[in-house]
Amino acid sequence: MDHLSRSLLNTFTAQPLDRVAHGRKDKDWLSAQANHRNARFLVLNKHNLMAYGQQPLILSLAQFQQLDVSEPTALLGVKDKGTEQESPVFKINVNDPDTALAPLLNNPEFADIEAFEAHPLRGFVHCLDGDTASMYSYASILNHWHQTTRFCTRCGSGLVQKEGGVIQQCSNDDCRHIEFPRINSAVIMRVTNGEKILLARQETWPEGRYSVLAGFVEVGETLEHAVQREVMEEVNVPVENINYHSCQPWPFPNSLMLGYTAEASATEFELEQDDIAEAMWLTADELIEKMREGTVMPPPNLSISYRLINDWFAEKTGTQLSDYQPEAPWQD
Ligand SMILES: [Zn+2]
Repeated sequence: MDHLSRSLLNTFTAQPLDRVAHGRKDKDWLSAQANHRNARFLVLNKHNLMAYGQQPLILSLAQFQQLDVSEPTALLGVKDKGTEQESPVFKINVNDPDTALAPLLNNPEFADIEAFEAHPLRGFVHCLDGDTASMYSYASILNHWHQTTRFCTRCGSGLVQKEGGVIQQCSNDDCRHIEFPRINSAVIMRVTNGEKILLARQETWPEGRYSVLAGFVEVGETLEHAVQREVMEEVNVPVENINYHSCQPWPFPNSLMLGYTAEASATEFELEQDDIAEAMWLTADELIEKMREGTVMPPPNLSISYRLINDWFAEKTGTQLSDYQPEAPWQD
């Protein structure tokens, strides 16, 4: 399996949209997209998505035009480009959903609804298909940037969205500095030694939740050095044979998780940081036993950490973690 195929097995990695990098520089083309009969609008409320029942709130052009939205829409891309069903997909942000979305409740399709609900994306992913989950992940990262980056980092003037919102430009004519969305790169690594895997629990996680180690990439280092450094900083274990596994955009709020595998050249560990509460080496059989006892819960299956552990587990046992551990709803 190549790396693309492996990454596509992770949640949030589908690419249903053509981002139209060249087309979005053309203002006329952009405004035609905003008035396209098949245009669709994903409605976000800061870090949440808006929904009704089990359905995400995705508006048609006519529904969108009923709203009085003050913030600019952002074009995520075009779905089914070049076909009859071609559909530009936008995200919009509403800070006060009850007021902003009230006009929609007069529509017959929403007759049974009293109000739309705001949900954190990770608690709602199980209601979304892979393509839709990926669009919301992308929309959520972009929305976070628009909400948190409003002023030029060079001169402090206000920023204006350009190219459909994928860049922002300083409004000061003497500056015109361009800001790009920020992505925080993090390495996440499955550390093994012989037949054992290293699992750790962070102080803030629910009791029994264990996962692999992870940490942010620092400036001026390679991804592989970040893997070595993080494992050393967190458990004081040297690692070698570091290999890339797959990656996953992680919209909580704006990370890219880079999955690695590594072998520990020693098994004695020492918890170096306050945020790691416990760590342990387990064989696959020991992990099964602890899952049955309920003393170890693997991470939720939407995360790359689950994939890293499950790939190892499936290779060792021919079974899946989900055979022993019913998927629990995500707890923050
Ligand atoms: Zn500026």
